[in-house]
Amino acid sequence: MALLAYGAPAGDKPLEPMTIERRAVGPRDVQIDIAYCGVCHSDLHQVRAEWGGTLYPCVPGHEIVGHVRAVGAEVSRFQVGDVVGVGCLVDSCRTCASCEEDLENYCEKGWTGTYNGKTDDAPGHTLGGYSQQIVVNDHFVLKISHPVDQLAAVAPLLCAGITTYSPLRHWNTGPGKKVGIVGIGGLGHMGVKLAHAMGAHTVAFTTSESKRQDALDLGADEVVVSRNPDEMAAHVGSFDLIVNAVAASHDLDAFTALLKRDGTMCMLGVPEHPHPSPNIGALIFGRKAIAGSLIGGLAETQEMLDFCAEKGIVADIEMIRIQDIENAYDRMQKSDVKYRFVIDNATLAA
Ligand code: ZN
Ligand code: ZN
Repeated sequence: MALLAYGAPAGDKPLEPMTIERRAVGPRDVQIDIAYCGVCHSDLHQVRAEWGGTLYPCVPGHEIVGHVRAVGAEVSRFQVGDVVGVGCLVDSCRTCASCEEDLENYCEKGWTGTYNGKTDDAPGHTLGGYSQQIVVNDHFVLKISHPVDQLAAVAPLLCAGITTYSPLRHWNTGPGKKVGIVGIGGLGHMGVKLAHAMGAHTVAFTTSESKRQDALDLGADEVVVSRNPDEMAAHVGSFDLIVNAVAASHDLDAFTALLKRDGTMCMLGVPEHPHPSPNIGALIFGRKAIAGSLIGGLAETQEMLDFCAEKGIVADIEMIRIQDIENAYDRMQKSDVKYRFVIDNATLAA
């Protein structure tokens, strides 16, 4: 069956309506009617060939929520009508050490992305959530227990949510810990909400005074304008963890100085131009670490969704029609969104 989708035929072309096919529902497959899909910065970079290696046509989207339309004969975890999600991964080897530890996101053979990943399905690479339906192996489908009227705002949890949740958990965020979140955008706004909900003293770092009240509204206990040296100096040597969501090249030493002994700064973005080399002496005198983290495994993503449902956490979103996607990309590049665009997939048929 031909399905409606939005994608780009080439890296220098805007997204346009197109029709795609999905594979027939296999024994372990879940067929999902997509209700909403979040718009991630990765979508823009990938579809515009800014990372290289983009396969066309490219249909982006890996923050997918919807309803189960059909399940294969061997699927027992899901039933028709269930509310479900799909994030950044739709397959992995399932046998390497990382997969065996529920860390499919670090699969040693390389996981299959929800779009632009290699697959036997036509056209030879995966197509993402800017489409009416998707067919996914049940291991990579997540249960959503939020109220259904929050479904659109749940979509960004599938990438922005898990990408910040995983490092917060890995470095033991909780009561008694002081945690910083650098950059209050799609990722950072989730980081502030999650760190606060985990019980940490949460400090938001922003470059703009104008975001101070917004960050407090998200749940930050304190806000530091990182361009203000006096504000930064007040926090030297005090953080257990800093989650740095800024991908643009910047001075890391300004933040490692704020870590306690044995503190860690975890980077979430890959800069287009490298950060200035960090001051290694500043790390040695204090046994500090600069680390990285990539999304999360399926079990942890389910844990994050359940945690968010229990705590009433969703993303702050602006809903768009699929026809407005290019405008949304332009605004996203200017950080002109609070804090995530989400596509209403019903508009594909408009
Ligand atoms: Zn993403
Ligand atoms: Zn693996």
